[in-house]
Amino acid sequence: MPNTKNSILQKISFSGIKRKDIQLFIKREDLIHPEISGNKYRKLKYNLLQAQSENKKILLTFGGAFSNHISAVAYAGKLNGFKTIGVIRGDELGVDLEKTLVSNPTLRFANECGMTFKFVSRTDYRNKAFQEFIEQLKDEFDNFYLIPEGGTNDLAVKGCEEILSKETESFDVICVAVGTGGTISGLINTAKLHQQVLGFPALKGDFLNVEIDKYVNQTENWNLISEYHFGGYAKTSEELITFINQFKKETSIPLDPVYTGKMLFGLVDLINRDYFTDHTKILVIHTGGLQGIEGMNTILKRRNSLIIE
Ligand SMILES: *Cc1c(COP(=O)(O)O)cnc(C)c1O
Repeated sequence: MPNTKNSILQKISFSGIKRKDIQLFIKREDLIHPEISGNKYRKLKYNLLQAQSENKKILLTFGGAFSNHISAVAYAGKLNGFKTIGVIRGDELGVDLEKTLVSNPTLRFANECGMTFKFVSRTDYRNKAFQEFIEQLKDEFDNFYLIPEGGTNDLAVKGCEEILSKETESFDVICVAVGTGGTISGLINTAKLHQQVLGFPALKGDFLNVEIDKYVNQTENWNLISEYHFGGYAKTSEELITFINQFKKETSIPLDPVYTGKMLFGLVDLINRDYFTDHTKILVIHTGGLQGIEGMNTILKRRNSLIIE
């Protein structure tokens, strides 16, 4: 597996930031590995060790058709000698698999890594956490190691507790994009007393506070900023895409449209609206997700919209 000891810290200068006293750095977890980038690797690390110690030969997990997690599990499985099974939302995708693979880079990559798909309807997918559905899967597939959707469980949080290091102790604020809440939980557990963790949810809904509370031992050092989901999970706008393109042009740092793009858009807005006190030192965690750009561009092109450069 990739070496994650120290992903690099990079100082950002971006014309969109109007307050020059604020220092902004980014931790390039996206550079950990081109395929299992950022937090998805962190979340899998201890789960893979656990699966090995239980002598499991198969990993089974869940995800949408463009999921970073599906892509990461497929690749990590291949690398570590596990068979992988992806339970994918959308039974229409399974009608003509060849056609699906041509048009969907995420599933094509997972397929090339050897992942077996089980496509399920949106209704069945909603039941995925229920014991009955899991039992059915157990009948259908051999003794597997189950990784939940998005990969969040106790072992995933443990992996994300390794993101912060001695090097990051000088920052006042740590920002991260939030999906299922596993990554931010790890950050919250290892943040220093003087540090505040800000999460930017990529989706609507208020289940996240409860979810994060399950994994963390602190209540005072974190906050969710819920105004920058752009209408929901994987929803975008021209304004967001324009921002992502401009950010890359000026900094050479690519952002993904589902998570890190929204977080940075939100953070820049907060900075410009004087959310932070003078001379605040902010660290952004780049959680990766860049494999999703191609899939998003396929959709944007079909709509004749602006694409990610
Ligand atoms: C999955 C993902 C997240 C969200 O992580 P959670 O642990 O589910 O909150 C953030 N950024 C990227 C790029 C991701 O792929």
